[in-house]
Amino acid sequence: MKILVVGSGGREHAICWALHHTSTDHPQLFCAPGNAGIAQVAQCVPVKAGDGQNLASFVEKSGIDLTMVGPEAPLAEGIVELFEQRGLKIVGPTSAAARLESSKAFAKDFMRRHSIPTARYRVATRFDEAKQILNSGEFGDAGNRFVIKADGLAAGKGVFVAADRPQALIAVDELRNGAAGPEAARKIVIEEALTGPEVSVLLFSDGKHYRLMPAARDHKRIGERDTGPNTGGMGTITDASIIDPTALDRVTREIIEPTLQGCLDEGFPFRGILFIGLMLTPGGPKVLEYNVRFGDPETQSILVRLQTNLAEIFAAMSTGGLGKLTIDWSPDASACVVLAARGYPGRPDTGTMIEGIERAAQHEAVVVFHAATTAAGGNWLTAGGRVLGVTATGPHLDVALKRCYGAVSEINWDGMQYRRDIGRS
Ligand code: AMP
Repeated sequence: MKILVVGSGGREHAICWALHHTSTDHPQLFCAPGNAGIAQVAQCVPVKAGDGQNLASFVEKSGIDLTMVGPEAPLAEGIVELFEQRGLKIVGPTSAAARLESSKAFAKDFMRRHSIPTARYRVATRFDEAKQILNSGEFGDAGNRFVIKADGLAAGKGVFVAADRPQALIAVDELRNGAAGPEAARKIVIEEALTGPEVSVLLFSDGKHYRLMPAARDHKRIGERDTGPNTGGMGTITDASIIDPTALDRVTREIIEPTLQGCLDEGFPFRGILFIGLMLTPGGPKVLEYNVRFGDPETQSILVRLQTNLAEIFAAMSTGGLGKLTIDWSPDASACVVLAARGYPGRPDTGTMIEGIERAAQHEAVVVFHAATTAAGGNWLTAGGRVLGVTATGPHLDVALKRCYGAVSEINWDGMQYRRDIGRS
């Protein structure tokens, strides 16, 4: 079997790694465009993730059986329809289903239509209208927290959790000044601020049937104790303590099943990976956001626990056969610590030599996923903001974290930064 994975980060490395490690007859793997670390398990193809036509041509030419898309942008742009029109098998939601991620206003209205619990909200189509809503008192007094979100895809730069109204008004000005890019802030979503622990629940869906993955928790801020600017994610854990069975049962009944049924009823069955960002509030679990693909770095900590053949899962997702498949996970806990370059999440230093990757990878139950590296003259060099995701499993979270940080201590480069409190704050 030949499989193409589209994307180039730590998530795509984890997908390729799991495709290889969960099967005995190892599928032949391709990754477009991939990165130097991914090249250890897959043949990298120099076609950009956003270049759907050329990806489809490559798939036809090379006889690829199945394509899996990592990032959200190609899904929102309709790569799934494009492949299907050319008769090619691809795993992922159509652009209609991808609106759950590509438009926060669409997602909120969808949740309202299907009575799915989420924060109260209003959508503004002008910046002054957003300010009027904030000043109206509808979402609390001036001293309350407010949440301001750009509607469109903004690579994590479109959400502001403001401590009070003056900060919220500044956030609106920042969006007006292009903080989330020119397109994303055409609409602005204003939400009540919720409180409670956050959980990420991911699932495989074939449109009708679904299978849950182990719940994960991520750490988005660059600094320890959740300080400093937001990033794409500085680390994640999976552990039974993240969500208890009663709460998970409630999430299933009140959120997951109505979401998948809502997609079916509205004519865009959700086929792909659905990632639901939740807050466990005192009033019950509520949806913060939908993503329509694997998370990065949640995927790294989730897929190291997968025991069922991932290629078989993807094949079942594309044919509607997921209902017949049992998916097994190791009972372990897991952790992924992201090692980032100096300057991240702003402009990172690149081209710096990295030491110790091979030594780290020899540690027990550790996998080092590459998010942005190049190889030159027998050395690994940094090639982006988030560079590596050091991932470990263990019978308890403490063990997984200890193994993870033990491996991290082997790796070094000038300017390397990471959080020492993953799984603890
Ligand atoms: P989102 O991209 O919509 O998940 O938002 C990014 C982060 O902002 C979430 O992980 C939360 O930490 C925070 N956030 C989003 N919406 C809310 C809300 N309504 N109340 C409190 N925090 C929120």
